[in-house]
Amino acid sequence: MRYPKLRELKEAVVAVISPRFTTRFPAEPCIVPEKYRGKPEFNLDTCIGCGACVNVCPSPNCLTMVDDLEVNPPVRKITHQTSACIFCGNCHEYCTTETGIKLSNNWDLATLDKESLYETHEYELQMCENCGALIGTKKHLVWLYEKLGPLAYTNPSLLLAKSGELNTEPEDIHQPPAATVREHGGSEKDAQVSDYMRILCPKCKCELNIQL
Ligand code: SF4
Ligand code: SF4
Repeated sequence: MRYPKLRELKEAVVAVISPRFTTRFPAEPCIVPEKYRGKPEFNLDTCIGCGACVNVCPSPNCLTMVDDLEVNPPVRKITHQTSACIFCGNCHEYCTTETGIKLSNNWDLATLDKESLYETHEYELQMCENCGALIGTKKHLVWLYEKLGPLAYTNPSLLLAKSGELNTEPEDIHQPPAATVREHGGSEKDAQVSDYMRILCPKCKCELNIQL
């Protein structure tokens, strides 16, 4: 019985003179490891509003996306709710641009202000200039143009989206043509080659290709 008591005494003495294992937070900042998974942060320079992160987020109501078509111009709103986040990292791993969202080392998220737990970003939407259907965000079209490089010249919609962003659109293109292409399910109208110089949804583009 005596030896176990001596061992416990030794452990107690060693513990008293050893450095502490816990941090002194909040008296001192707590430095987390480099790959710590803290609050996801959007990078608005590289986030294109595609919504892929919303689709892969496993936590209900954590990342949500709403397309508001009633405002002018129509916008997509992507909201992150910190209190619903489980810091799994899916949004970062599957981000289309790879850097649109990234888990930061910000872990000190306790707050009494509920509103501060919501973060919303807006992205202008691009609608089809023939039928008005939603195509995607303008930033997404421009990103596709830049990603494709010279191949983008086969797609007038991407060219027009990029020229619209640069404000370099010549005045004599991208004008509403005299005749419109056939509307979905509607009557067939005369289509013109100039109809290609419009930002069209895949369905309208397919119908235009068939008519010309
Ligand atoms: S870390 Fe996980 S739970 Fe949090 S926003 Fe990203 S995908 Fe959703
Ligand atoms: S997947 Fe990436 S680029 Fe697309 S909306 Fe989410 S953060 Fe932005």
